[in-house]
Amino acid sequence: MITIKSEREIELMKVAGNIVYRTHQYLKPFVKEGITTKELDRLAEEFIRSQDATPSFKGYGGFPGTICTSINNQVVHGIPGKRKLKNGDIVKLDIGACYKGFHGDSAWTYAVGEISEEKKYLMEHTEKALYEGLKQIKPGARIGDIGHAIEEYAEAHHLGVVKELVGHGVGTTVHEDPEVPNYGKPGTGPILKEGMTIAVEPMLNLGTADVYILDDDWTIETDDGKPSAHYEHTVAVTKDGYQILTGE
Ligand code: MG
Ligand code: MG
Repeated sequence: MITIKSEREIELMKVAGNIVYRTHQYLKPFVKEGITTKELDRLAEEFIRSQDATPSFKGYGGFPGTICTSINNQVVHGIPGKRKLKNGDIVKLDIGACYKGFHGDSAWTYAVGEISEEKKYLMEHTEKALYEGLKQIKPGARIGDIGHAIEEYAEAHHLGVVKELVGHGVGTTVHEDPEVPNYGKPGTGPILKEGMTIAVEPMLNLGTADVYILDDDWTIETDDGKPSAHYEHTVAVTKDGYQILTGE
């Protein structure tokens, strides 16, 4: 069931989303060579709890971390641990926070030191693909319009679109209806209405779109070992467009 949020509920989601945004800003200067993903996770948890919020992902389906930390060829759901970031890595930090019962969810990709031109290209165009998707959002548009715009942009830039994982509705649970795929046909899927709140999150690969899951039952990696990028915002459908909730 797709829920429509009241103005008051969207205000609370804006607070939750802003906590997620500020957690990203807080972590950014720590994303440097030598730090472990576990340390980033600890910093994120401390920050989220200091804002009277709780980490959305900790314990979700048994996930052990506060945030997901996925390096290079890891696409999403990387478990924070002892691995240290190295110069030239890219790391995806996926952060969720719950405030007064409502969630915000946003992922971003960060460069560690000097990265290759191809990683810069991947990051630039995955971020742009997110905004291509968001641009479609307004009452009367359809979920398929979002996915189509992302897929078309990704293909024009020769990037692989991960299909096994999708965006989603966000509200009193971090994942709710509808699914928001990063591919699709225009004019298909659920119709967007004012008050819907969804996370749009393209995961694009420099090589093949194919991915597999590691033995830890969480981490998703690209089949060909090439890097992947991930950008995500939670947004509300407004009267004439959309508003980013996981922003300033
Ligand atoms: Mg996320
Ligand atoms: Mg999400």
